[in-house]
Amino acid sequence: MQLICSFCGRSKGEVGLLISGIDAHICEDCVHQGNEIILSESRAKSLQKKELLFDLKKPKAIKSLLDEYVIGQEKAKKTLSVAVYNHYKRLSFESEKYDVELEKSNVLLIGETGTGKTLLARTLARCLDVPFCIADATVLTEAGYVGEDVESIISRLYQASDYDKEATERGIIYIDEIDKIARKSDNPSITRDVSGEGVQQGLLKILEGTVANVAPQGGRKHPDQKMIKIDTRNILFICGGAFDGIDKIINKRLQAGALGYKSNFKEEINKDQYLEYIMQSDVKQFGLIPEIIGRIPILTALKPLDAETLKSILMKPKNALIKQYEALFKMDGVELEISEKVIDYIVEKALEFKLGARGLRSICEEILSDYMYDTPSEDSVKKISIEIKDAKKVIDKLRLKAA
Ligand code: ADP
Repeated sequence: MQLICSFCGRSKGEVGLLISGIDAHICEDCVHQGNEIILSESRAKSLQKKELLFDLKKPKAIKSLLDEYVIGQEKAKKTLSVAVYNHYKRLSFESEKYDVELEKSNVLLIGETGTGKTLLARTLARCLDVPFCIADATVLTEAGYVGEDVESIISRLYQASDYDKEATERGIIYIDEIDKIARKSDNPSITRDVSGEGVQQGLLKILEGTVANVAPQGGRKHPDQKMIKIDTRNILFICGGAFDGIDKIINKRLQAGALGYKSNFKEEINKDQYLEYIMQSDVKQFGLIPEIIGRIPILTALKPLDAETLKSILMKPKNALIKQYEALFKMDGVELEISEKVIDYIVEKALEFKLGARGLRSICEEILSDYMYDTPSEDSVKKISIEIKDAKKVIDKLRLKAA
C-alpha cells in the first residue's frame, strides 16, 4: 500500500519527510503549515487578552498604579492617565461608526531633571504591560543619518517586545531631552541652526507615523532574509525635557497679557509656578518646530520636588531607595537602621545639589558605600545604625574633594 500524507494527499515520493501515526501520516510541509497556524492563533489570543486589559484600565485605575511608584506630580499623573487611556481607546476605535478620526495623544513632559519624567513613562509601560524603550533625542544629533536612527529606536522597542511585531506597534517610546534639539532662535532667518531643525524633521517622521524596517530576531543571516516592517502609527510617544529658561518666556507672555495688572502677577506667581501656565506657543518660542508641537498635543509640567516630597520618595514608593538598601543588607543578614535625622540631612543635601530625586541616590551611595564594602566580610555584624555624624563626615569629605 502506498503511503500518503493524510492532510495534503501527496504520496511519500512527492514529499520530503513523511511522519507516521497510528492510522494516519503527515508530511513535513503540513507540519510546518500546522505550526504557523498554531503560532498565529496564539498571537491573536494574546492580542485579545491585551485588549481586554486596556479595556479594564480606566484613567483612575492607571493613576492609582502610577501612585504606587511616583510620588506627587498629581497633575502630570492625571493628564498622562487620560492620554494613555484615550490612546489605547483609539486603537480599537471604529472611525466609520462615529464618522470622526481620533488623533494620537503623544505627550510632552516638561520639568527639571530628576523630577520623575522617565519614571512616569517607564511606570506607565509597566502598568499597561506594553513594550517600552528610552531614546535620547541628543543622539539623533550626533549621527548624520537621521533615518538610520529612527529605525534604531524602533528596533530597540522591537527587542524590548521580545520580537513581537504586534506588541511593538502598540508600545511606548520615551524620548528624553527633546529640548536639546530645539532651534536656538525662534526666528529662522536670523540664526539658522540647521542641525537642530534637521533632527526635528527626522523625529517628526516617526511621530507622524512611518513604516520602519528592523532586522528580525538574531539579526539578518543572509541578504535575502526579509526585514520586519513596523508601523509606528500607533506607538505612543512620551517626550521629556527640562526646557531650561522657558520660565522666562512664560513670564514675558504673562506680563504682556496682564498689561495694567503687572503688580498682581508678580505677587501671585513665583518662579517655580510659571511652568503651570505653559502653553504650546511657549514651546514654539523655545525652538521646537510647529509641526512637532502639533504632533505632541498634550503638554504637562512637572513640579520641582520640595523637601517633603523628596523625603517621601526616599521612604514610600514600592521600590523606595531606603527599602532597596535595607533589602541589600538583609541579604547579608544585616539590619540597616537610618535615623530620621540622617534622612532629613540627605534631603537637605539633595535640595542643595539641585539634582532632584536623582541626587538622593548618589548621596545615599556615598554614605553607605564603605558599609557595603566591609559588611559582607564581617560575619559578626548583625546591625548597622547610621547616625547623623557618620553621614556628615562622608558628605563633608566629598565637599573637600570637590573644592
Ligand atoms: P527625569 O527623567 O525627570 O530626569 P527620573 O524619572 O529619571 O527623572 O528620576 C530619577 C530618579 O529619581 C528615578 O529613578 C526615581 O527613583 C526618582 N524619582 C524622581 N521623581 C520621583 C517621583 N516623583 N516619585 C518617586 N521617585 C522619583
